[in-house]
Amino acid sequence: MVFFSKINDIEIVIKRIRDKILNIFLPDGFYFSHNGYCPCCDKMVNFQANVSWLRDSFLCSNCHSFPRERALMLIIESYYPNWRSLNIHESSPSNRGASLKLGKSVKNYVASQYFPDKPFGMQINNFYNQDLENQSFKNESFDIVVTQDVMEHLYDPGKAFAEIARTLKKGGAHIFTVPIINKHKSTEVWAVKEENNSPVFLKTPEWHGNPVDSKGSPVTMHWGFDIVDFIKEHSGLDTTIEHIDNLDYGIRAELIEVMVSQKKE
Ligand SMILES: [Zn+2]
Repeated sequence: MVFFSKINDIEIVIKRIRDKILNIFLPDGFYFSHNGYCPCCDKMVNFQANVSWLRDSFLCSNCHSFPRERALMLIIESYYPNWRSLNIHESSPSNRGASLKLGKSVKNYVASQYFPDKPFGMQINNFYNQDLENQSFKNESFDIVVTQDVMEHLYDPGKAFAEIARTLKKGGAHIFTVPIINKHKSTEVWAVKEENNSPVFLKTPEWHGNPVDSKGSPVTMHWGFDIVDFIKEHSGLDTTIEHIDNLDYGIRAELIEVMVSQKKE
């Protein structure tokens, strides 16, 4: 017992010395790491961040997933343990994290992207071209619809929530991440669409990276927790906001709420 506790002490001292050395070379003097299980690549890994904004920097050493992606995967697995055998539509998947796992593990996985210059409904590479606000999928096609940081980039999110609800089977759910940046403050419209499809920002212009568009995507909404009322009003679905903080799954960061909007049986 004494022997084991000594080994433990030595490990702690080594970790402290390593962190001190790393701190000297790191940009904002921040370094954080934790060993745990990654829900995206299903391996024991080391989660590391060298910037204090963990949302984009606390990466899995194996699959480089973000905390929000690991939180989303854990929520899908806990709400729908049979997720592998379900029909899942993911809009605008990334090539990492939960998207990769869903694409690999789910037989009936449909991925869509938004290519406004191409005909909607057609398949382009491995994606269906879909406008989330006006989808060509039939009613009650999917058990789960997944979106990751998409709903803050839509000009008519009410229509998109209604369309997602239409394509969900009874008992299914829209499971998604979106930064609830306004928290308890009311949701704000950040940009509206001009006739030529470009954004008119009502506030400071904000753009996020988009894997299929080098221009990026304009931020159109700053959501608050009242997103729950917005979804109810536009789609009739009841939403639960889940917040996970569990370092053993590498899940710790700001703005990593996962919304689960379920369609009643
Ligand atoms: Zn991983």
